[in-house]
Formats: sequence, structure tokens, C-alpha cells
Amino acid sequence: MNEIIEIKKDKELNEIKETDTGRKFRYKVAVIGDGRVGKTSLIKKYTQGSFKKEYIKTLGAQFYTYDKKINRDKIRLMFWDIAGQDKFHFLRPNFFKNSKAAIIVYSLEESNFGRESFNHIMDWYNVLTKHCGEIPIVVFANKVDLVDETKLDNSSIQDMVNKNSFLGYYITSAKTGEGVTKAFNAIIETLNYKILISE
Ligand code: GDP
Ligand code: MG
Repeated sequence: MNEIIEIKKDKELNEIKETDTGRKFRYKVAVIGDGRVGKTSLIKKYTQGSFKKEYIKTLGAQFYTYDKKINRDKIRLMFWDIAGQDKFHFLRPNFFKNSKAAIIVYSLEESNFGRESFNHIMDWYNVLTKHCGEIPIVVFANKVDLVDETKLDNSSIQDMVNKNSFLGYYITSAKTGEGVTKAFNAIIETLNYKILISE
């Protein structure tokens, strides 16, 4: 039986289809944060080139579809990435529309740029929740290869995570690959968990 039977079309979970080979899920994940913190590099590192890229000119955004199989289920992730203007006030509502989770990226670089990117996390969070309400958020502290990890003070990011009920923060390097798989997998696990509890 090859026929696709749609068992559920739930606003909350996007599209869920059941076929004889398992279920199919599709999620949009918004990837936000200041320009040059490494958003595009992280997506590329995680998907190892096995992504399909599409550019949406009117939104100044691009998205990368990435298919993952978990047991018999097929999960299609759509990472929405900002192209060009990375200032939160330039983003159109459609960039955020229907996002099921978000990744906020900042840079650990010890410079004004790095510190600013940390200070802007709340600006990104505010614009995100304005458009999406409360969705799962994970923070990526990127470019760890540029700092001495043993001297990192994670108390301010930990405070921010606790205060705002973010799912957590992950220390990453798109350059070396450190932490990247673990960080993205955290998002996928959360989305899967949402499926399980809604069943
Ligand atoms: P975006 O504007 O947030 O998408 O940032 P990009 O992915 O375009 O990265 C901006 C610059 O930072 C590029 O030159 C990347 O090669 C560099 N970059 C990104 N991630 C890392 C990282 O983890 N470590 C280092 N050293 N450089 C990085
Ligand atoms: Mg980019």
C-alpha cells in the first residue's frame, strides 16, 4: 500500500502524514542572531552539505531543507536563515510565521562585536515571541575556537536561559564542528517530544 493517508493536520505541529513506511513531519526552525555570528556556517556544518538551499528574495531570507530519519519517521527540517540584513527590525513577520522552534546565535568572541551579539539576544527573543508566541528556543554560543574555553564564564548566559525558560545553551564552533551536532539535535529532540506528548 503506497497511498499516503493524512492522519492529522495540526496547526501546532505543521504537517503530519502517515504512510506505510512511517510518518512524515515538517518543521520550520528560525535561526536568528546578529550578522556574522556564524548562523549560516552552523547550518552548513550541521547539514554537511546535504541540504537544499532556496532563496526568498522578498523576505531577504533563505531556507535550507534537511531530511532526517528517526526510526521509521521522516523529519524534514526547514532552517530559515537571514540573508543580508541581520538587524531584527528589518525582518518581516513572514520570516517567523509558523516557526516551531528557534535558535538564537551569538558569538563568544572577546570583542565589542561578541559582547553586542550577546546583549542583542533579548532583542531577538522579543521580536521572535512577538511573532511566534512561546516556542522552544535554544541559544548557541558560537566561535568557541576563538577563546580559551577553560576561562569561559557561563553564568550570564545561564542566568538568561533560566530567566526566560530557554531550553538551554550550547557552546559551538562552526569552524571545528565542536558541539554542533549536539546543539541541533537538542532542537530535534524537543520537536519530537512535542509530537509524542500530543499523541
Ligand atoms: P552569519 O552572518 O551569522 O550567517 O555568519 P556566517 O556564517 O556568514 O559567518 C561569519 C564569519 O564568521 C565567516 O567568516 C565565518 O567563516 C566565520 N565563522 C562562523 N562560525 C565560526 C566559528 O565557529 N569559528 C570561527 N573562528 N569563525 C566562524
Ligand atoms: Mg548568514
